[in-house]
Amino acid sequence: MGHGAGGETMQEFIASHIISHMPDAGMTVPLRSLDDAAVVDGIVFTTDGHTVKPLFFPGGDIGSLSVAGTVNDIAVIGGDPLALSCALIIEEGLDLNMVDRAMASLGRTAKEAGVPIATGDTKVMEAGAIDQMIVVTSAVGKRSPHMDQNLEVASKYRTVNNTWLTDDSTRDGDVIILSGNVGEHGIALLSFREGYGFESEVRSDIAPLNGLITEALKIGGVVAMKDPTRGGLANTLNEWSQKSGVGIEVEESSLPLTDPVRNAADLLGIDPLSIGNEGKVVVSCVAEMAEDVLKAMRGHQYGKNATIIGRATSKYRQVVLHTEIGGKRILEAPMGDPVPRIC
Ligand code: MG
Repeated sequence: MGHGAGGETMQEFIASHIISHMPDAGMTVPLRSLDDAAVVDGIVFTTDGHTVKPLFFPGGDIGSLSVAGTVNDIAVIGGDPLALSCALIIEEGLDLNMVDRAMASLGRTAKEAGVPIATGDTKVMEAGAIDQMIVVTSAVGKRSPHMDQNLEVASKYRTVNNTWLTDDSTRDGDVIILSGNVGEHGIALLSFREGYGFESEVRSDIAPLNGLITEALKIGGVVAMKDPTRGGLANTLNEWSQKSGVGIEVEESSLPLTDPVRNAADLLGIDPLSIGNEGKVVVSCVAEMAEDVLKAMRGHQYGKNATIIGRATSKYRQVVLHTEIGGKRILEAPMGDPVPRIC
């Protein structure tokens, strides 16, 4: 299970047993860079398999998750999602009402994101061969019409070599913005699944973020973006730090965290920074544009609680958390998401 949990164990597994066998010549953003999406001949491309348990939970379901997760992976690299594919693998005997509910939700979320389902596939497997339903979505996108202007603004303030918003693009002095509260998706799902009793207070944050991301790009100065899904914010910041070769300082007191999420995480012994989110984006931005980008994000319904959480620095090589009691600790990349089957 660790090999699929989104942390360092999975990264090693993928690098040694999967990517090592794959040809990837000729890509602008190749498979081996393990970014949110690849770029091939100007086309942005990504895929995601969804195995969430249970299929329906507070704030979302496998349908909304399957669209939002894939749309967001296109958007965070600087792509405009154009179309989705949807492959369904259904367990024999699954209640047709559940199929209808999941598909209605998938359709509603695609409509909200403004992205059609262009192609699909449906298979049924014998009872017991899979757990209810697996949904695999892929998406293609083209370069956002705001990307060139966005990078031009950034290059007024520092050298910008990257042409997409990849994990290796953050540099000393860049400001890190988080679009809202962390930990809600993982806690909502875990609590609902295990009956811990927080389910009335914590809902999943599942949301398609292409609209919010467009607002940030229109302002300009954004150099990297990532959706902190499996492995949470801790994983996202560590991937940036490692791939960009820069340290990241984070103010713990600035992290947007609701009391129910904090309490649930404390009780369950889980670090909310290592839990997957499905409706958040982390933005790395040149310092001079950070306040303007923040303001634009706060003006969007999915960025109302956006806040500056830290800054990249050459003082360190790691992600360093400045704690509320005045200390410092290294925020490590989690070995995996502490909560299985949340996406
Ligand atoms: Mg992603």
